[in-house]
Amino acid sequence: MLQCQIDSASRHALPPTAMPVQDRKMSLDTACREEATYSAKLGGLSKGHDRKGSPVREFVLCENHSQLMTQVDRELMEDGWGTAFAEKTRSLS
Ligand SMILES: [Zn+2]
Repeated sequence: MLQCQIDSASRHALPPTAMPVQDRKMSLDTACREEATYSAKLGGLSKGHDRKGSPVREFVLCENHSQLMTQVDRELMEDGWGTAFAEKTRSLS
């Protein structure tokens, strides 16, 4: 089975000092042992908030962390960040 990669995904895509990320730090930094059921292509952090030209990597996530990533991303966008999702989350099944 594929294991959820939330810790690598959050390190790649989420600005560590932003409030929505700080609020969920425990859940985002965790080494999750759940089975990954979703895949997401995430843009990395670049200098600007818009993430233009940032490297895109694909990660697999469990259902809970896929939802959490979507939620944190929405809050970051409200704070003026470009979305982290280079491509919409898709189900692996
Ligand atoms: Zn997970």
